[in-house]
Amino acid sequence: MFGRATLIFYLMKLDLLVFAAHPDDAELACSGTIAAHIAYGHSCGIIDLTKGEMGTRGTPALRMEEASKSSEILGLQVRENLNFADIKFNNDWDHQLEVIKKIRQYQPQIVLANAVRDRHPDHGKAADLLREAFFMAGLSKLKTVLNGEEQEAFRPAHLYHYIQNDYIEPSFIVDISEFWEKKKSSIMAFKSQFYDPDNKEPDTFISSDKFIEFIEARSKELGHRIGVRYGEGFTMSTTPGIKDVFSLV
Ligand SMILES: [Zn+2]
Repeated sequence: MFGRATLIFYLMKLDLLVFAAHPDDAELACSGTIAAHIAYGHSCGIIDLTKGEMGTRGTPALRMEEASKSSEILGLQVRENLNFADIKFNNDWDHQLEVIKKIRQYQPQIVLANAVRDRHPDHGKAADLLREAFFMAGLSKLKTVLNGEEQEAFRPAHLYHYIQNDYIEPSFIVDISEFWEKKKSSIMAFKSQFYDPDNKEPDTFISSDKFIEFIEARSKELGHRIGVRYGEGFTMSTTPGIKDVFSLV
């Protein structure tokens, strides 16, 4: 069903495009921000780089099903998977080209990407890959072709990085208080990965009930920093400009 939606919106531009090394990275780190901006009227999509096939629990097919369920919960316009090899993908020309094609296809104003460094080595690697592809997507002499059509050069206005497992001091925090329940539901759509007392597969770092408590604690801590109940933090690869200092909360 989601494949059909992807086709229908093939030519659509998105306001916000989120890249994630693994299906569930975006849900854990920034689905409150995604849900908030969809509620504010912006269009949003997630592009997962891999199917997370090296994960201990579940199968790639199951994780695709779970990603599709989460996409419906969040109300995404697009969810795609670039089928890079989990763990083995690199920040090299071939992988950069695939990311550049997606940036040019959807022409988002803002791109969100993995944490600049983290416990899982794919996260920092994906952040580096995105930072380079983000810049190169704007070079008009760098030609790309998608479905037989030459693409226009396009560089989004901003690239921000969500914060994942390891704490990184955020540059800004988004108030997601109204969207906490939706965030939790989108995470729990990945039933094979997170706490499920009926699952008999091996326990992992993220499969205990403590992990969901940690996600809630992190969201509360970041929310507390800006005087709200729940928040999500980001660092910046580009610097936004403002006209009115009172526009910040
Ligand atoms: Zn991940």
